[in-house]
Amino acid sequence: MLDFVGDLKRTQMCGALRASDAGSEVVLMGWVNRRRDLGNLIFIDLRDRSGITQVVITAEAGEEVHKKAESLRSEFVVAVIGHVKLRDAGTVNKSIPTGEIEVVADALRILNDCKPLPFSPAESDIANEEVRLKYRYIDLRRPEMQHNIHLRHRVSIAIREYLNSQGFYEIETPFMTRSTPEGARDYLVPSRVHPGEFYALPQSPQIFKQILMISGFDKYFQIVRCFRDEDLRADRQPEFTQIDLEISFARPEMVFATVEGFLTAAWKTIDVDLQTPFPRMSYDEAIRKYGIDKPDMRLPAMTDVREVFAAEQLEALNLDPELPIVAIVTPKVGELSRKERDDIKVAFGDRRDAKVFEDIKRLEKSFPETVAKIRELANPGVDDLLVIVAGAKRGEEASAAKARQQAYDVYAAAGQLRLGLGQRFAAKHGAFDKRDFRFLWVTDFPMFEWDEEESRWNAAHHPFTSPYENDMDKLESDPGAVRALAYDIVLNGTELGSGSIRIHRQDIQSKIFKALGMSKDEQQARFGFFLEALQYGTPPHGGIALGLDRIVMILAGADSLREVIPFPKTAKAIDLMMDAPTPVSEKQLKELSIAVVQRKDT
Ligand code: ASP
Repeated sequence: MLDFVGDLKRTQMCGALRASDAGSEVVLMGWVNRRRDLGNLIFIDLRDRSGITQVVITAEAGEEVHKKAESLRSEFVVAVIGHVKLRDAGTVNKSIPTGEIEVVADALRILNDCKPLPFSPAESDIANEEVRLKYRYIDLRRPEMQHNIHLRHRVSIAIREYLNSQGFYEIETPFMTRSTPEGARDYLVPSRVHPGEFYALPQSPQIFKQILMISGFDKYFQIVRCFRDEDLRADRQPEFTQIDLEISFARPEMVFATVEGFLTAAWKTIDVDLQTPFPRMSYDEAIRKYGIDKPDMRLPAMTDVREVFAAEQLEALNLDPELPIVAIVTPKVGELSRKERDDIKVAFGDRRDAKVFEDIKRLEKSFPETVAKIRELANPGVDDLLVIVAGAKRGEEASAAKARQQAYDVYAAAGQLRLGLGQRFAAKHGAFDKRDFRFLWVTDFPMFEWDEEESRWNAAHHPFTSPYENDMDKLESDPGAVRALAYDIVLNGTELGSGSIRIHRQDIQSKIFKALGMSKDEQQARFGFFLEALQYGTPPHGGIALGLDRIVMILAGADSLREVIPFPKTAKAIDLMMDAPTPVSEKQLKELSIAVVQRKDT
């Protein structure tokens, strides 16, 4: 028999009761987390959003109350009318904040029952994630998830408050729009009233926020959903949330200071004080020192040791004098076995463009002075592992652009090995501490990336990114050398966000579209309205967008974005709870003038 709430009012949250509440009358409402029946005494751990309180039903409560308590099962919803009592010294539970008290029930109402559960929210490790996602409403009751969602709320509020305090307006932009320039596949929404025509869900509010600058809203932000139909990797979601902002008359430093301000506010939610400003490093330096544009600086940088090799040594080792030679130091690895050293070779892979010297002692036998100098430069500790990566001799002369690429490839190979060794020996060096937050700004990215498959230049960021004024003359002669006023914010080897100073002049925008191989007609068709808008008094402007999901994941110390998104999709882009996507009715399709054709290859 279920009870009604009647005129009962909840007076207290379960998790908030303390010793100072002893003696007070309370009405608690929540879920039965666990029940222990000792005959005379029945204990219920009553749970709500705020935590757990132990409720005790003694014989004094009377037979009716006792009977009800006996019938309780996991996740029944109950109201407990009772009084707070200090626990005896021997039964205090130090592991929960309410552990000094318990609530003695005088009356009990069962507000709802609960079917046998697929899993109990009282369990902390539920191995089967599919079950968790299918029954997300139960999963979200778990204290870990309640904590993560609460944290997400606090982080969003902290960021909003900071940006508000800096004079930013929060402005919404449409979800039903047209293709935006981030370069992923669009999610499309068919139009019923315009048969055969589609809206695209925004990959980001990029164009809208630039238009808002043209409209004079000189500091904009939005915590906004973005949609990208990409092949999903483990840590991607088809819809995700960005902290998106744009500033008129901005230089990169203004954007950096704004982001440092709101990240500091966000990290305060976990009681960490960030040191600002964050270090800055050019893309070129990041590649040379870390072999990657998102360096994890918890491990030492690589050291350029090219200068210590004499010409005949390079010859003997079959190394290219024009290509880099770098030393990688991995701390506290200790003596390696033959097999472990062989594994390094395997991890490095069978490459033609670069070589690894994983056995430094062997190299030392042939070239003692050279290795001594390497040690001087790279300065490894006694227990540290020292490995060298060098560019292999190239067959033929290369153009400047090709040579630059070849050098970057060698750095990238070394950088990958540096990270691989870092991961492999993480237990030994202990540097991958989740609470060691090494932020970094990477600046001056290349404007274009060469697309081997399509044989053309692509925008490395997006096509509204401004090139360096000084590099404009290389747009046609050497596009690969044009740097962009683009920047990334990086934390411990992860890119948290990226942005740029934008092109605000129509003539330059048009030139960049042309450099990207876009004909005048194509420019008009895709971005005509924007090229026109740029001509009506566009202020210089710039901005950035950061992934909120990833930030919360890091703050929560979680391993997956799905731990901090209330209703995430699986790696196959499926919502297991709602069971989406699904086919739709013939009637709906007809209204949309859509016919579904079964593809032969599926
Ligand atoms: N819209 C860009 C992105 O989503 C960020 C930016 O340039 O502000 O990557």
